[in-house]
Amino acid sequence: MDKEPILIKKIDEMRNFVKKHRNQNQTIGFVPTMGFLHQGHVSLIQSARQENDIVVVSIFVNPKQFAPDEDLDQYPRNIERDKEICQKEEVDYIFCPTVEEMYPENFQTTVSLSELTKGLCGKSRPTHFAGVTTVLTKLFNIVQPDNVYFGQKDAQQAVVVKQMIKDLNYPISMHILPIIREDDGIAMSSRNKYLSAEERKSARVLNQSLSIAEAFIKKGERDCQRLKKFIRQKIENENDISSSQLKIDYIEIVDFDNLQPIEKVKDNTLIALAVFVGKTRLIDNVVK
Ligand code: AMP
Repeated sequence: MDKEPILIKKIDEMRNFVKKHRNQNQTIGFVPTMGFLHQGHVSLIQSARQENDIVVVSIFVNPKQFAPDEDLDQYPRNIERDKEICQKEEVDYIFCPTVEEMYPENFQTTVSLSELTKGLCGKSRPTHFAGVTTVLTKLFNIVQPDNVYFGQKDAQQAVVVKQMIKDLNYPISMHILPIIREDDGIAMSSRNKYLSAEERKSARVLNQSLSIAEAFIKKGERDCQRLKKFIRQKIENENDISSSQLKIDYIEIVDFDNLQPIEKVKDNTLIALAVFVGKTRLIDNVVK
């Protein structure tokens, strides 16, 4: 039987454990999540486990990164199952503070980036990344990790956090790990739970359209406008043949380092998209 992870709700308690481990020169690996864990999260936890003495997973559905019309209330939660997964993966601590603990009355500070958050998901979710960087600043200050683990699934988030770590001089190494997919290619996401059977089928088109772009690139296509057109056509075609309602939020091809749009595919190109499948907004990407 694996050792049960210690569940912590209070910031002071988390700090005390962190202090103890830092005094013993133990390295801390940290995986921030919103819970409802799946294999995507598990891959991050496993890397953290391999590379650190102590592993902390946070589970916090952060209200500041949801706009008022988004899915904060419906966001799936299952702490019991999350605990079992963390136990199996030999996590030492689960930090799961309440909203009041993280944002007491009169909380006033926002941490935000000026440029990297303007495009891609930032266009349709203008307050999202400030919520993410504010909560991560707090979590980094509380957990004081040596290593943090993020998924390429949220590619813009990864670039934003990398920049924030650099700008704010955090002594933290950032690790960005590949997207874990279901057998049919759909990127794993807690939000997949919202999809009806028909929508779930249609959602495959996100990854399929990216695969089409990849195939064209392999054949020598470099023109980003044309590649975006092929992706759009594939998604619109699915919209025509399925009863699910698909609505493209964006299809962008950018430099993965600075998220600036590019004309021609080169090394380290990020092809990213966001599509509403019914009411559920899904994202996916590939890096070439
Ligand atoms: P979330 O709980 O959705 O906020 O995600 C927590 C972390 O898990 C983020 O760094 C995500 O990028 C990462 N993640 C979510 N889904 C996947 C996936 N399918 N593959 C790899 N990492 C993922």
